[in-house]
Amino acid sequence: MSKRALITGISGQDGAYLTELLLEKGYRVFGLDVRPPETVFHHLEHVKDQVVLHRADLLDQQSVVQLIEEAQPDEIYNFAAYSFVPFSWEEPVLTGDLNGLGVARLLEAIRRTKPDVRFYQASSSEMFGKPEQVPQDELTAFRPGTPYGTAKLYGHWITANYRDKLGLYACSGILYNHESPRRPEEFVTRKITAAAARIKAGLQNELRLGDLHAKRDWGYAKDYVYAMWLMLQQPQPDDYVIATGEEHSVGDWVEIAFGYLGLDWRRYVKQDPALLRPVELHRLVGNSAKARARLGWQPTVTFEELVKLMVDADVARVQAQLGKPNVG
Ligand code: GDP
Repeated sequence: MSKRALITGISGQDGAYLTELLLEKGYRVFGLDVRPPETVFHHLEHVKDQVVLHRADLLDQQSVVQLIEEAQPDEIYNFAAYSFVPFSWEEPVLTGDLNGLGVARLLEAIRRTKPDVRFYQASSSEMFGKPEQVPQDELTAFRPGTPYGTAKLYGHWITANYRDKLGLYACSGILYNHESPRRPEEFVTRKITAAAARIKAGLQNELRLGDLHAKRDWGYAKDYVYAMWLMLQQPQPDDYVIATGEEHSVGDWVEIAFGYLGLDWRRYVKQDPALLRPVELHRLVGNSAKARARLGWQPTVTFEELVKLMVDADVARVQAQLGKPNVG
């Protein structure tokens, strides 16, 4: 009999890649999302007939219990969260309620209705804040510097509590930034690749960015959802850092993306002080040795390949908008 998986926040980047992976593996996929139905399948038009969508609210305990009773999942992947870090300064309480307490409501519903569910929590490198060591691993101290990171840290520990004290099969993946053509443009990576494609086509003539020296450990979202699935197939539940271990800057993205399209980025990129962050985090680099050893996981694309595959996708999008065939 095919396995059943419930994905919360299915409409986002990770929800879409994981849905495709699980359908390929023969799972029945159930989705939860608060977005209107016409936008939920934005990335999943091609498989929407194979996904059963549920309405439930992670802010409402009873609706979460009912959801699990109805979907009867074997695995739950929790992506439902406000994902854009600066937003968490505008809505810190709401971020805490969904990104933090929402996790507790899911775990509590699992405990009450189907304690054999395998649960994946999307933890984040933002929980390290300004880290005390570089690179960070599963034992590095957490010092989140944003309401987003603080809420995610609650979600992380409550997942560990339900595993360690109540025996649930619950795992957290401490994921570093992961990007793809499905990343929204509010994130700097897509902002850059989409702008480069539009500038190349003559549709835009300037790109305003914040700190070009800001660095992150950026990987490919498709690789990262595979790691999540692997975590739920192990004999024992555990937490894992998922990262490339490489540090690159926003400036590196700009140079590779514009260079790939034969553009001199200095002509187009302007630094805008309004886009600088109040608390800038530096040196977030992950050590994923545990995942590599125990899960046999590793990234499949290099940094440069990631930038280029996102530029290619944005060039294709622009050409489709302009009604031109994609001639590469
Ligand atoms: P985050 O790590 O989840 O906050 O992912 P983002 O893609 O939003 O930001 C990554 C880094 O890029 C942060 O250090 C930002 O300060 C930096 N950055 C520089 N310019 C920009 C910009 O114009 N937009 C965004 N979103 N980030 C920028």
